[in-house]
Amino acid sequence: MSQVQQFRTTRPHMLKTNKEYARQTLMGGLSGFESPIGLDRRDRLAALKTGDIGFVHSWDINTAVDGPGTRMTVFMSGCPLRCQYCQNPDTWKMRDGKPVYYEAMIKKVERYADLFKATGGGITFSGGESMMQPAFVSRVFRAAKEMGVHTCLDTSGFLGANYTDEQIADIDLCLLDVKSGDEATYKEVTGGVLQPTIDFGQRLAKQGVKIWVRFVLVPGLTDSEENVERVAQICETFGDSVEHIDVLGFHQLGRPKWHEMRIPYPLEDAKGPSAALKSRVVQQFKDHGFVVY
Ligand code: SF4
Repeated sequence: MSQVQQFRTTRPHMLKTNKEYARQTLMGGLSGFESPIGLDRRDRLAALKTGDIGFVHSWDINTAVDGPGTRMTVFMSGCPLRCQYCQNPDTWKMRDGKPVYYEAMIKKVERYADLFKATGGGITFSGGESMMQPAFVSRVFRAAKEMGVHTCLDTSGFLGANYTDEQIADIDLCLLDVKSGDEATYKEVTGGVLQPTIDFGQRLAKQGVKIWVRFVLVPGLTDSEENVERVAQICETFGDSVEHIDVLGFHQLGRPKWHEMRIPYPLEDAKGPSAALKSRVVQQFKDHGFVVY
C-alpha cells in the first residue's frame, strides 16, 4: 500500500486531538527539527524578526484536515486570543514553543514536496496563531511557492495587519475562523475584537485568495440566529473567495488540556449542538447561497 493510500479522509478540523485524528497522523511532534540551542535571548528575538527562526509547538502530516490533499501542518506557538473553546491552550505562549530554524523547516517541506504535489496537498500553518510570527511563516510560504507547493494559512485573522499584500500573495488558501458575527459575542468568545478578521478577509478576497470559513457552534454562546446571520453577512463581503463554510460543532476534546494546565475552563459543562440546532445553522448559511459542511 502506498503512503498516500494509507490515509483515510475525515474532514473536521475539530478532530485535532482525538484518536481518529491521531491515527491519521503519519508522524509529528518535533522530530527532525534542529533547535537553535545556544542563541541568547537577544539573538533569538532578532532571528524571530527576520524569520530565521520560528517558535513551533508541533507538526504533523495529515490528509484532508487542514486543507486539501496530504499536508504538513505546523502548529506555531503564541496566540493573542483566549477562546473559551480553545482546544490547544498549550499553544498560547510563544516561549513555550521550540525555536526551529527556517532552513530546517524548508528541508522538511522539500522532503515531502513530491507527496504534496501528487495529492494536491501542501503546507498549512496553524497554531496558536501563526500570524504572530509573520516573517517566518511568510518566508516559508515564499519558498514553498518557489517549489510549486500549495500554501494554506489557518488563522483567526486577528493579526491580519501584520501581513503585507506581498505576503498575502503567497497564500493559496486561508482557513479563516469567523468566531462570531456580533461584536459583543466575539469579545465574550475570544477576548478580542472582530473588525480585524473582517478586514483581513476582505483583503484576502481582494487578492483572490480562496477562503474556507470556519465557525464553531457552541450552544448558548455562538448559536443565536442574529449572531449566525451576522457571520453570514460578513462572509458575503468576502464575495466569491469563499469556497465553503464549515460549521464545526463544539465538543469537549480540549477539556483535559485546560485541566492539565490548571486554567479555569469556562465551558466545563457545555454540550455540543444537537442535530436540530446544527441543521438550523447550516440552513441559515445555505440561505445566503453558501456551500456548507
Ligand atoms: S485563536 Fe485558536 S489557538 Fe488562539 S485561543 Fe482561539 S482557538 Fe485557541
